[in-house]
Amino acid sequence: MSRVFLASRNPKKLEELRRILALVVPGIEVLGLGDVAAYDEPAETEPTFEGNALIKARAGVEATGLPSLADDSGLCVDALNKMPGVLSARWAGVAKDDAANNRLLLEQLEHVPDPQRGAEFRCAVAFCRPGGEEDVVFGEMRGRIIREQRGDGGFGYDVVFVPDGETRTSAEMPAADKDAISHRGRSIRAVAPVVAAALLD
Ligand code: IMP
Repeated sequence: MSRVFLASRNPKKLEELRRILALVVPGIEVLGLGDVAAYDEPAETEPTFEGNALIKARAGVEATGLPSLADDSGLCVDALNKMPGVLSARWAGVAKDDAANNRLLLEQLEHVPDPQRGAEFRCAVAFCRPGGEEDVVFGEMRGRIIREQRGDGGFGYDVVFVPDGETRTSAEMPAADKDAISHRGRSIRAVAPVVAAALLD
């Protein structure tokens, strides 16, 4: 049986990866951080999504000996020179305080006119193998930052982000609709054939 490791504890990410990989590698087993012996997870010290995804995937290979995947993602806002970027989770200073992050972002953009409120979510997925081979794929979801918070699905900045071609925020979209166009959905679909090729090698 083919096995890969995803350096994540997030059940939604694991489920999405399992679902997409199963289409190209039938019977594949995807293990998460909760399925392997605990190890020291490295700090995400790189200035790019790609760099941080590679740090996490390499640590996964070292700890598990399995081909390992890891993702890193964030919001890049045009009017903020593409910040918060890799600082997305802790933009307001405290790690993973979504409400504080969204409040701060809306304040920072208060005087930015509608045509200049463009932004994108970006995601990098790294796939590292025990032999040292490495691949990184990318996905993006372009849209704009609105002036209020709407919706109770999703997480993070979804409540203030309307994808291009949509009137709903990504927090108002059913998960399957968001997955179909999201930065993470796109990058996971892009890495699936790379994983399939490596495992079936
Ligand atoms: P992570 O790479 O999944 O840890 O995401 C880093 C941070 O980027 C999250 O804490 C969110 O603030 C933001 N982010 C990444 N992807 C999304 C998304 O799909 N919706 C909303 N926020 C996101």
